[in-house]
Amino acid sequence: RLYNQVQDLRGSIRVYCRVRPFLPRQNNHISTVDHIEEGTITINTPAKHGKGRRSFNFNKVFGPSATQEEVFSDTQPLIRSVLDGYNVCIFAYGQTGSGKTYTMSGPKDLTEENQGVNYRALGDLFLLAEQRRDTFYYDVSVQMIEIYNEQVRDLLVTDGINKRLEIRNNSQTGLNVPEASLVRVTSTYDVIDLMNLGQRNRAVGATALNDRSSRSHSCLTVHVQGRDLTAGNILRGCMHLVDLAGSERVDKSEVTGDRLKEAQHINKSLSALGDVISSLAQKTVHVPYRNSKLTQLLQDSLGGQAKTLMFVHVSPEPDAIGETISTLKFAERVA
Ligand code: ADP
Ligand code: MG
Repeated sequence: RLYNQVQDLRGSIRVYCRVRPFLPRQNNHISTVDHIEEGTITINTPAKHGKGRRSFNFNKVFGPSATQEEVFSDTQPLIRSVLDGYNVCIFAYGQTGSGKTYTMSGPKDLTEENQGVNYRALGDLFLLAEQRRDTFYYDVSVQMIEIYNEQVRDLLVTDGINKRLEIRNNSQTGLNVPEASLVRVTSTYDVIDLMNLGQRNRAVGATALNDRSSRSHSCLTVHVQGRDLTAGNILRGCMHLVDLAGSERVDKSEVTGDRLKEAQHINKSLSALGDVISSLAQKTVHVPYRNSKLTQLLQDSLGGQAKTLMFVHVSPEPDAIGETISTLKFAERVA
């Protein structure tokens, strides 16, 4: 028990794997996932990847029939720690189409049942804050930004002007992108409106064929400030909910120009994230936060007493096997 508390103070890194179901219009139902057992996923690898079976271990593996509610239930303790003054990062990693946005936000036709982690986390946050109203006064505000080609943009602008923003680590206020719109929220409805605004802004400049959202990282940051009504002291915590750019490798011989530049930026920032998390997991002295905008932005929410949860997503289709293997390898390195 005491050990658990010590663990708790040191912060933690957890990695959950989620397998997407086949989509309704797909008729090829032969999954590359052989079986799932608690924290282990076993995949069938084709000849090209050394025919046979290969297992990977995580804190938890969610199969294709896992509901949004089940996936969120293991995330709930993190929400409480934000109100206790800790910093939390929740990431969705995986190739485009593997279900990152589904886990974080939900599908396009959103219902209460299929709402993703973002909505549920905020819902819980307000609920818990309400339960503590006799002892704490909580102030909640959100920012939403996008990192595209190593440039930071505000997604909550209302005038359509998206200027480039700077990252300034400010441990006093916890506002690392001080110029990004900071909007005070008092209910999940406020947050839903803001997330819709962010999604609309994110789509600006993207054509159907050229879906930029899969090639940028989006980060919804929830800042929580709690005043202890008896002692008078202030607790400050924040939660970053990050829908990462697609992790697929592009074939350098096939893409050129802007598409190649995007791919190189994504590559660089995802490996920087992997390097930071694995060096935290191995407790190395030097943690390479400076290698990407993403890790700079999240510096004070990765490591130390902060808590990190990474959802890694895999697609079940045989033609995704190459990406599935590299996703699982990436995740195993940070787990
Ligand atoms: P990504 O954000 O990784 O590119 P999406 O979240 O957009 O992937 O998912 C691709 C498609 O699969 C979407 O139509 C989405 O609604 C669907 N999908 C993803 N995960 C699930 C799931 N667990 N259950 C049902 N449909 C899913
Ligand atoms: Mg997506």
